[in-house]
Amino acid sequence: MSRKRVVVLGSTGSIGVQTLDIVRQRRDRLQVVGLACHRNGSALREQVREFRPKAACLVDPNAAAQTRNQMPSGVTLLAGEQGLSEIAALPSADLVVGAVSGVAGLQSLLAALAAGKDVALANKEPMVAAGRLVTDAAARTGARLLPIDSELSAIFQALQGEDRRAIERVLLTASGGPFAKLDAAALREVTPEQALAHPTWRMGNKVTVDSATLANKGFEVFETKWLFGLDPSQIEVVVHHQSIIHSMVQFVDGSIIAQMGLPDMRLPIQYALFWPERVANDLPRLELAEAATLTFGAPDFDRFPCLRLAYETVRKEGTTYPAVLNAANEVAVEAFLEGAIGFADIPHVSAAALEDHEPMSDETLDNVLAADAWAREFARRAVSHGAIRAGAEAGTSR
Ligand code: NDP
Ligand code: MG
Repeated sequence: MSRKRVVVLGSTGSIGVQTLDIVRQRRDRLQVVGLACHRNGSALREQVREFRPKAACLVDPNAAAQTRNQMPSGVTLLAGEQGLSEIAALPSADLVVGAVSGVAGLQSLLAALAAGKDVALANKEPMVAAGRLVTDAAARTGARLLPIDSELSAIFQALQGEDRRAIERVLLTASGGPFAKLDAAALREVTPEQALAHPTWRMGNKVTVDSATLANKGFEVFETKWLFGLDPSQIEVVVHHQSIIHSMVQFVDGSIIAQMGLPDMRLPIQYALFWPERVANDLPRLELAEAATLTFGAPDFDRFPCLRLAYETVRKEGTTYPAVLNAANEVAVEAFLEGAIGFADIPHVSAAALEDHEPMSDETLDNVLAADAWAREFARRAVSHGAIRAGAEAGTSR
């Protein structure tokens, strides 16, 4: 059997490293032909030495310049956004793993799909900012979007062999994050260190903070809508602290199919890499008797306004509001991690940007990028002027 040739975008991150872990276990089935990251030249160099891809890319030009002469011979080192898109469309690749963090992964994702490459996608921000552009790009070439995000993988797995028209609704499970039980006053005091300590998953910083605000769950509503063609009214969030059921699909006959497993991203990553095949592995197994109790509850939209903002914004598809929500949130999360704003200010930044935005009604790439740039600028000003709460209180309580 010929090996599947894989490009990993975001190879030095949490998902990227776990993807390479799977490749390491199954070198008989998988071959790395491209690796790319932002600026971590030393980690990329080590990966290149181990996996010997044809090409590698450092988006940051300075990092690329510093790393260039440390690359083994025979490996082409690309640089910049252009380089990232080039490696995403590498002619020899069969599958591209999209594991960049943030909307920074949008253009390379579009490049991969335009080249007809199937994409195993973890990087959710492009699905928020430009879900229609992404799904249209895939439809044009027939490239497949194979979800890595565990909830989306669960839905995808529950739908194998099913007619998508038979979906009544999707139950998207949420661990609730580390602050599920904190009241509004306590949420205002949350520090970056606390927000980065997720109870059930180990992930990159940005998605960990998003999980704590529930923005992440809101973004998964966008992913679910676009990947499975559902209306937001068919997507319900269920708080399930144990992260054992990764999501469920309820069909028109009332049957609910759930996908379960330990919280370990290597499982959904592997599923996306080998789909439609199931491949044996020696990952730890879920022992239900040890898991003991599975609990379920409704999310609290008042304590976690990011989730409400996402539901409001996903209904404004076809406009540039989703791009604004995503960009303002990216800036706010960064500002929170730098100590410039509080945890509870994050939704205020997004709400203020949405409030102030003059939407464009066409979701073209130019409009998405313009809205993204506008929202970043707006959010940076809001953060540095400390003017977030005053401007946004009305926005989050609509
Ligand atoms: P990390 O922060 O751990 O890694 C991000 C990766 O993207 C790094 O390789 C980083 O490179 C690279 N990167 C960052 N910015 C750019 C850029 N501008 N251009 C090119 N590459 C860039 O993130 P995660 O792995 O945790 O998450 C990746 C994506 O997957 C996110 O969208 C997240 O929401 C999603 N996801 C993650 C899950 C997880 O368990 N981690 C679960 C579900 C979804 P460098 O190292 O050089 O900075
Ligand atoms: Mg998820």
